Amino acid sequence: MAPVDNELDPISSSPNEAVQQIGGLKELGLLGPSLDPATRGGAIKELRMDNICCSAHGLSLLITGVKDGGRHTVLFDTGPEEHIFELNAKRLKAPLGDIETVQLSHWHRDHSGGMPKVLSMANAMKAPGSAPITVDLHPDRPDYRGIMAMAPVSLEADPTFAEIEAAGGKVDKHDEAHNIASNFFQVSGEIPRTTKYEGGLKRGVRYMEAEGKWKEDTLIKDERFLICKLKELFTWSRHTLIGVAIGKGIVVFTGCSHAGVVNASRHALTLGKGTPLHAVMGGYHLADSEPEAISSTVADLKALEPTVLITGHCTGWRAKFAIEQAMPGKLVPSFVGSRLTL
Ligand SMILES: [Zn+2]
Ligand SMILES: [Zn+2]
Repeated sequence: MAPVDNELDPISSSPNEAVQQIGGLKELGLLGPSLDPATRGGAIKELRMDNICCSAHGLSLLITGVKDGGRHTVLFDTGPEEHIFELNAKRLKAPLGDIETVQLSHWHRDHSGGMPKVLSMANAMKAPGSAPITVDLHPDRPDYRGIMAMAPVSLEADPTFAEIEAAGGKVDKHDEAHNIASNFFQVSGEIPRTTKYEGGLKRGVRYMEAEGKWKEDTLIKDERFLICKLKELFTWSRHTLIGVAIGKGIVVFTGCSHAGVVNASRHALTLGKGTPLHAVMGGYHLADSEPEAISSTVADLKALEPTVLITGHCTGWRAKFAIEQAMPGKLVPSFVGSRLTL
């Protein structure tokens, strides 16, 4: 479920059968209370515009893994603003009480800004005495990040470790790869840069109060991705019970891909030790890339043979168009409010 993403499209269905999209007006929760059939010429329901999510520049994905009857839920990023997260989570009736871990992909306000509201809403939906929500963070938090134009342009500060604790989160800092949510998911370590064309965030800078000056920070080295492995269980083959489990592959959740979506996907395959690449979901950060970089990215992604590419946030329409042209049917654009099953 996507409580925050850059784009909205509650109408288009998934063109890739690897992704089942919950659809229909009822399932999408767009229908309001029943109408009196004696009024409005027999209309029975009202399609409510105020049940539709609103898009915002940022990302937040509510991800539930299911295995052997067990379920574990992680929130990957929190979107840019508290009120956007709150609005959409309420419209989606999102089960925030299920959240065990909030993982922040990297320190950028469009991913961290909703954090205090996420924690207060999720804690309010938990049963009394529940374990506190772990907030999985990279230890290297800049005081500010920004973009160097003629002079530095600063983003708002990310929530501090103290603010996150005060909002009801249990801060858990990690630099290296590690497992979360009872080993259902893995958070990567630093993403190795192997491609020539994925150069990081153009004109990215960071500011530390103690140093008193802005420094180049194009690599955004704190960015991490989240992965899980999908299993497909085949129990029958031509009337014979065979009961073998065949791996569908790795699903990669990526925030902005400042390290490059090819670098991230390749590293996910390394972490997956031979498991194929099933899906890459999130921001591919190609919206401001040169055409050559988009072509190289799409060609190298194709070589990794993914089953589905779920492009959202900062991917940009050019890259989505290029993916659809190079790999017809693989693309499933990610929209705010969508509910997908992989
Ligand atoms: Zn972003
Ligand atoms: Zn970013």
